[in-house]
This record gives sequence, C-alpha cells and structure tokens, in this order.
Amino acid sequence: MNPKLGLLRGKEFLMKDMYTFDSNEENSQVTYEVLCSAYSQLFRMLGIDAMKVKGSSGDIGGKSSHEFHFISDIGEDELLYCPKCRNGINGELYEGKTIVCETCNISYERCNGIEVGHAFLLGTTYSKPFQAKFGSSENVTEFLQMGCYGLGLSRILAASVECLSKDDSIRWPFLIAPYYVSVIPPKKGSKEESVQALAYSLAESLTKISWLKSNIIIDDRTNFTIGKRINEASSLGIPYVIVVSKRAQEDIPILEIIDVYNDKTFFLSHKETISFFRDKTLTYSVTE
Ligand SMILES: [Zn+2]
Repeated sequence: MNPKLGLLRGKEFLMKDMYTFDSNEENSQVTYEVLCSAYSQLFRMLGIDAMKVKGSSGDIGGKSSHEFHFISDIGEDELLYCPKCRNGINGELYEGKTIVCETCNISYERCNGIEVGHAFLLGTTYSKPFQAKFGSSENVTEFLQMGCYGLGLSRILAASVECLSKDDSIRWPFLIAPYYVSVIPPKKGSKEESVQALAYSLAESLTKISWLKSNIIIDDRTNFTIGKRINEASSLGIPYVIVVSKRAQEDIPILEIIDVYNDKTFFLSHKETISFFRDKTLTYSVTE
C-alpha cells in the first residue's frame, strides 16, 4: 500500500487525440491558436487554471508545441514561468540560470506541473514522408500542413481531484462531479419518517432546473443515520446535500441545504430551495 501520488499513480491512460490538416502554414497557425484557446477554455470550465507553456516536441517532432499543466507540487514536470503574464516553458528545455520575461522584464519562477494536454504544430513533418498532398486552387500539388492535439482524459480527472481536494474529502470540478445534489430522506423508524414523501417531491421539482436535471441522487439508504449519509456525500465530493428531517415537520416545512464545498448551511422552505438552485448556474464562465 503506497498512496503516494493518489489517483495519478494509475497506469491506465485514456487520451483524446485530434489531427488537423490545413492547406498552408498560415491557416495551420490559426487552427493551432483556435485549438489552444479551446483547451484553455475547457480547463477554465473545470475551474482549474491550467498553465500553457512552451513544450518540448520530443519524439513527435514538428515546428513548435505547447503543453498544458495543472500546477501541483506533486507534478513531475518542472516549469519556468513569468508570474505576471504567465508565459512559460517546460524546464527540460532550459538548463540555464535565470530567464527574464521579454514582455514584463521580470524573472521567471519555478513550479511543478501535471501535464494534461499537449498541442503540436507539425508542419510537413509527417505529410512529406507519407506523401499526404492535396491539389490547390492553382492546381499545384502541395503537402498538407498538420497539427496534432491531445488531452489526457483520465489524467485530467485524477489531476483535478489532486488540485481541488481537501485532506478528508474529494472535490471535483463541478462539471464532472458524480452528482450535484444528494437528497437525504429521514431515517427509517424515526419520528420524522412521515416527511419522507417531501424528499421525493423536492427531488422531482429539482430535476426541472436545467443545470441540475439528472444530477440529483436520493440517498434512500434510510437504515443509515442522516449524519452517516451526509458524511458519505461529502467524502464523495457531491457539492450540495439536502436533508429532509425534523424541521420538515413544521407548518411550513424547512429543509437543510448544505453547501459542502463552501462549508455553509441554509434553512429554506421548499419554494426557497427551488429558487436557491434556480438562481445558481454552473460555477464557470465560458466567455474569454
Ligand atoms: Zn511576463
């Protein structure tokens, strides 16, 4: 048993690959920029600030490449970056003393990163040997300008948990949390058992909120105490827990909403609970 590096220890590596083919160098550069910014946006949607650094083209070859890293002390890559504009390069490309940022005129700093994506501008490195050509509009046969782009899907999962989690519980990027809400009905045989139906009708109402939809789970293991089920939801990293118990018996039933990630608790009526979730959106911004 060696928990070092946690989920990152997994040897399985699931990857998303993409290859692009352009008619000229200029267009392939545009494709490259578009895809790099799509990757950056994806990482922002996950709520993790990935660093894009100049990478080593290594075995793949080509003209230039950029790596995307999640910053973490356990990352195996050493990165050099400008703390102001966050331009950087992989440390293996630079064995010297200090680098000064050309734009900001300040020294690069060092940090460790977990590589989660890599983009390569390949030029004709592969199209030439494979004779991958096309007929241009001027009827000239030319080599295709290529690019290749990879995302480490299983590593993104492991690395994001690594970056966001607390010592005692998993924290997911919201978009990949197993569920957004766990609804906990009262314990079987307890005095509050009569309010059980409220839990189900609440869960049903919540499914009508577009961003929640099928991301609600009812923890109907009512042989377990409420406390145990709250703890399990929290350690699984479910961001919100709704407890339907004692106070749900009041004239206007009150529900306990636990915002697990922010460690806050709210006591709200059914109607207030619906607006609480309706007014929220996923916690990322998709605009640049
Ligand atoms: Zn800079």
